[in-house]
Amino acid sequence: MSSTDLPPVSVLLVDDRPENLLALEASLEPLGQKLVLANSGNDALRAVLQEQFAVILMDIRMPGLDGFETIALLRQRAQSRHTPIIFLSAYPEQHHILRSYSSGAVDYILKPFDPEALRSKVSVFVNLRQNELALHAAHAKLEERVAARTAELAETNRSLAREIAERKIAQQQLFDLAHHDSLTNLPNRALFMEHLNGAVARSRRRTSPDFAVMMLDLDRFKIVNDTLGHLAGDQLLIGVASRLQQCLREVDTPARLGGDEFAILIDGSHSVKDATRTAERIHNALKTPFDIDGKEVLASASIGIVMMNARYERSTDLLRDADVALYRAKEEGRSRYQVFDHEMHGTVSAQLRLESDLAHAVERQELVLHYQPILASVSHTIVGFEALVRWHHSERGIISPGEFIPIAEESGMINPIGLWVIEQGCRQLAAWHQDGAQELTMAVNLSTRQLLQADLGGEIERAAQAVALDPRKLKVEITESAMMPNDPAIQHTLSRLRELGIAISLDDFGTGYSCLSYLHNFPVTSLKIDRSFVSRIGQKTERPEIVRAIVSLAHNLGMDVIAEGVETVEQLERLRQLECEYVQGFYFSEPLDAEAATAYLSRSRR
Ligand code: C2E
Ligand code: MG
Ligand code: MG
Repeated sequence: MSSTDLPPVSVLLVDDRPENLLALEASLEPLGQKLVLANSGNDALRAVLQEQFAVILMDIRMPGLDGFETIALLRQRAQSRHTPIIFLSAYPEQHHILRSYSSGAVDYILKPFDPEALRSKVSVFVNLRQNELALHAAHAKLEERVAARTAELAETNRSLAREIAERKIAQQQLFDLAHHDSLTNLPNRALFMEHLNGAVARSRRRTSPDFAVMMLDLDRFKIVNDTLGHLAGDQLLIGVASRLQQCLREVDTPARLGGDEFAILIDGSHSVKDATRTAERIHNALKTPFDIDGKEVLASASIGIVMMNARYERSTDLLRDADVALYRAKEEGRSRYQVFDHEMHGTVSAQLRLESDLAHAVERQELVLHYQPILASVSHTIVGFEALVRWHHSERGIISPGEFIPIAEESGMINPIGLWVIEQGCRQLAAWHQDGAQELTMAVNLSTRQLLQADLGGEIERAAQAVALDPRKLKVEITESAMMPNDPAIQHTLSRLRELGIAISLDDFGTGYSCLSYLHNFPVTSLKIDRSFVSRIGQKTERPEIVRAIVSLAHNLGMDVIAEGVETVEQLERLRQLECEYVQGFYFSEPLDAEAATAYLSRSRR
């Protein structure tokens, strides 16, 4: 620290005689410090209360308190206990000097004094005090910096702790994200597999099962998704997930594996009964319709169940077998469950193979159309044909549409297959027209998914144009379930078909939904009475009033009626009486391949 930086200090001068004080003041002025003057011991004691002095110069002989008495008092006080005191005195005697030192003075100066000597003595104490103050200041500053630094460190610590906490939360969130399905918030495949691995490891040594794995797949979810849109599909999945959770206990792990596929680990399931009870609970829980954007949507699920046993070493094998059981359940129709048994394995893997074979059926030209004639019930003349697809599988022979169309619908293969049917049907009809049978119509069956194709109308129009066919000779057959969602997109497609002059038949009429209001909303031109009503004709279970009601409903709405599955002359007679215009069935002909159908046609025209 340089001298200019030194803080100014105070020096106390104590003398009862003003001229002495003046002389002292004059000698010490050059030091440039603050000089405080006191006329008595009492004044000096007061001054000391006000401030801290570098040094006190004090006369010994004063009225009132003299120098010795004053120093004694000063030494008793905390503020002045250590302040250096120099006596100024006219007594040169040794005992005075000794008494002064023993009372605590640091020096003893005889009057008259040499100002220069006095100054240099005082300046020693001034410097001492200044250094002391500077040291204090430096110390205080240091303390201050230490405090500031400590506070800074504490803050850093706090924010570090905050950061660690935040990072922990983020890590947890990352873990959750990576292990949960973002739509339903259920555990995802990864977390499910972790739980399943744990369960397998725990129960490997036991002989009796203690948990079951369920695979669950929504029935016809793709159709809901396609007709109501993906957002509605998502909402349905969320709804299903929450109902699943309501059916399960804390220890069970439900998970969404993807799409409309869920898996459930049912812990503490000791018997097949335990597991099937849960499956029944789930089926019941799904019976109440879901409210999706104000629309009632029904969902059902197929469930495959596998019981853990000591034979299973890997969790993936359990999942595979639950999947096999699920596949079986699906085959049996909606809302079923199946428990895996070992015989299932072979048949189901054959079915899965079928699914992958189907993907190549069109390009391998394995599909063929058969044609079944449709006749006027009174004149028995052929008015047209219904195209029915068959699959010539290289190993399995002919596979019926009832078997592979549902697979094609689920896998999306129905669209290319459907287009092929349309094109092939158009080609065949155009060929018959060229042979002179220009009155003939061709009916093709459409599935709901095809109706959702944006440009189905355009596709059919182009197929007809390609073979110079009048589209008004075409007919499409759709089932009631396609109308069910009352979907504007389907309405739009059907209107477009009507604009092209294509007729629309409602297939299998009477088996589907009892609500007939959609008949007003969709531009249907014919009703096709389901085979089940026709086959009862002449039996004890015959219900002629239903057929009569369908016919009169159709006629009132300006539609005509076709009866399918006519097998006997009695049925034919009865339908004719009931004023059903058209008939189709084995009584006339089974569906025939192109060659046989052409022969049948020319025979009947002769
Ligand atoms: P569908 O449209 O109701 O077709 C009538 C079914 O009844 C045909 O079975 C036909 O062979 C059968 N049938 C006809 N007359 C009689 C009869 O007198 N007695 C009996 N017992 N059965 C008779 P198929 O060909 O097995 O077709 C089954 C279903 O597959 C069809 O029912 C139709 O819904 C669907 N399908 C057929 N071809 C196609 C297609 O190209 N596309 C689509 N999407 N579906 C198709
Ligand atoms: Mg049909
Ligand atoms: Mg039918």
